[in-house]
Amino acid sequence: MEKSIYTGKVHKIRVKKAFPYLTKEKILCPYCGNEEEFYEVIENATFYVHYIQTEEGKLEPVEEEAEVVGPVKFYCGVCHADLTYLKK
Ligand SMILES: [Zn+2]
Repeated sequence: MEKSIYTGKVHKIRVKKAFPYLTKEKILCPYCGNEEEFYEVIENATFYVHYIQTEEGKLEPVEEEAEVVGPVKFYCGVCHADLTYLKK
């Protein structure tokens, strides 16, 4: 159910999608009925991008990493209501 709250502790995430549960219940905005557009706001996140410089002086990104300290909030893309509690 609820994810544990990270207070002061740095939580590392890798941007990878490997969730096999695609037949979950759909999220429906209880305020406007929207079920298509949503967005997420990640507070206090630090993104690290590791580069390798080539001989021509070009920077090639080799790895990206995000450290999320603050809460992740989920909003309706139509009426912008906070729907964090609906997302699991
Ligand atoms: Zn809405």
